[in-house]
Amino acid sequence: MPIDVVTADGRALTLTERVGVGAQGGVFRVAGSPLLAKLIIGADDASPTARKLDRMVRHSRAPRTVKLLGGGTGTGTGTATPPRAAWPLVRIATRNGRVVGFLMTDLTAWYHSFDVFFSPQSRHAAFPGITWALAVAAARDLSALVADLHAENYVIGDLKAGNLWLNTEGGVAISDADSFQFTDGEAFFACRVRSDGYIAPELTASPDRLPDEHTDTFALGVLVHQLLMCGAHPFAGVGPDGDYRGLDDNAARRRTRLLDPASVRVAPGTPPLSALPRPVRDLMKRCFDPGSGGPRSRPTAREWFDTLSDCAAPRALKQCSVIATHCYPSDIPWCPWCDVRAIGVDCFPQ
Ligand SMILES: [Zn+2]
Repeated sequence: MPIDVVTADGRALTLTERVGVGAQGGVFRVAGSPLLAKLIIGADDASPTARKLDRMVRHSRAPRTVKLLGGGTGTGTGTATPPRAAWPLVRIATRNGRVVGFLMTDLTAWYHSFDVFFSPQSRHAAFPGITWALAVAAARDLSALVADLHAENYVIGDLKAGNLWLNTEGGVAISDADSFQFTDGEAFFACRVRSDGYIAPELTASPDRLPDEHTDTFALGVLVHQLLMCGAHPFAGVGPDGDYRGLDDNAARRRTRLLDPASVRVAPGTPPLSALPRPVRDLMKRCFDPGSGGPRSRPTAREWFDTLSDCAAPRALKQCSVIATHCYPSDIPWCPWCDVRAIGVDCFPQ
């Protein structure tokens, strides 16, 4: 059923087909516009959410934010880049003011959802003929996006695959920007959303604690692992005694083959850690090991960007001599994707 809304400056719009639904609200097409609209459940015209959206709309016109969203502050993918975030551009409300929301860019015009990348079948359908080089480029661009948001003092808070988008050039964008955490003048807008599989151990230990840059960089480490390991989660796996209470529990208990190969049994066909460049493995160990100095010692998004930029350089990648879609770090003497294919999992089909 169509929904009538008005913009902050009194323009009438009609929301039509609902194209997405989440815990916080629904996403709709807008009649006569290429933009999408998001309505936020439980937020009326007088709510803190409405005030937060007003601030973000104002930020969207600030030169620093325009630069950030259009390609970054020096770490982005260059000129003519697609939008990097579904940022609140115009605040809207239903006619009775009981539900507020915003207009945003439709990222599907440029990107596929991140989840598509995490299984060989959907990856091949969306990105035919791609190689591991695209995964490295995506991890690099994601790191640049997080670094640029942190440089502008935004904490993402709910950084997860479900909020991320990827194009065929390895460019990355983020949605659900309205959940970002930030301070504007004397106003502080918290992020209290979190998602299974991306929760830093310090948040698991203290559920009331708010996210910060260091909890973002924990989630970034998880996502880089998922990208470079064909969707495999770094904390997937059952303990040697058959015990498994979820990814976040494994993370809190440091159960990952990166830190202790005997701590978990991973699913057959999971790519070997030896397929990762050694500098990337080292960053992951620092990211996931609380014993290495706590959250503050995790690699920053900028460190991830610098390391992944080195890994993405043409000289750092080698072409498999057998399969055209196999590409791997040049410091490895054999093709890891041929090894995985030999046991029945074709990570990069031709
Ligand atoms: Zn190969």
